Amino acid sequence: MGVVELRGIVIAESQKGESNKRLLILAKGIGKVMLTARGAKNTKSKLLAGTQLFSYCDFLAFEGKGFYSLTQADLIESFYEIRMEMDKLAEAVYLAELVEKTCPEGMEQDETLRLFLYALAVLEKSKMPPRLISRIFEVKYLQISGLLSYEGCMVCGMGGESLFFHERDGEFLCREHCHGGEIRLMPAVQKAFSFITQREGKQIFAFTLSAEALAQMDFVLQRYLEVHMGVRLKSREFSKEL
Ligand SMILES: [Zn+2]
Repeated sequence: MGVVELRGIVIAESQKGESNKRLLILAKGIGKVMLTARGAKNTKSKLLAGTQLFSYCDFLAFEGKGFYSLTQADLIESFYEIRMEMDKLAEAVYLAELVEKTCPEGMEQDETLRLFLYALAVLEKSKMPPRLISRIFEVKYLQISGLLSYEGCMVCGMGGESLFFHERDGEFLCREHCHGGEIRLMPAVQKAFSFITQREGKQIFAFTLSAEALAQMDFVLQRYLEVHMGVRLKSREFSKEL
């Protein structure tokens, strides 16, 4: 009980009553935290800027029995420019929802927080295709979550130049362990998986991919997320309809 300081980013917001907001933030050191922001919908509220989706802030909150009530929000970064382009906004909204729905509660998620901040910074400032940024995020997020190691075939660890993806089981396999129903990964897609899993930080966002390779990566990851993380989000498809 008492006043706590939290540094984090708003990953979900909803209205609560006429002028209040409920925020889900991903906070450094503690992971997901729910905050109530009284009066935050009021246009004159000093909490207005810090309580938008993607606002990265130093928050001051009063901690009561099982709740946090926001008293101050000092904005560090708003990622405001992401809102200027629909395709960027669509991907940012998807990534926030993915974290909201799949990130475990009650434990520190600093690696995910850093990854999310990097992805938003790249979305905002670079000319990289927004959908590629989301695919890179997914690979790293799966790796951080312990659901993807990408060291060749999932049976024998081999594979080298030619790996296959089994759609139903969501498995990467070498030619020898294929049992029907696989697609062959394009060399550029294999390289992309290796590149991302072997690097850290902002470096993972430093490559390009042809439209064809991006489409295969998209297909593989959609299935992988479904099989291994149990999610299929509509917001993931939204940018394709733009
Ligand atoms: Zn094998």
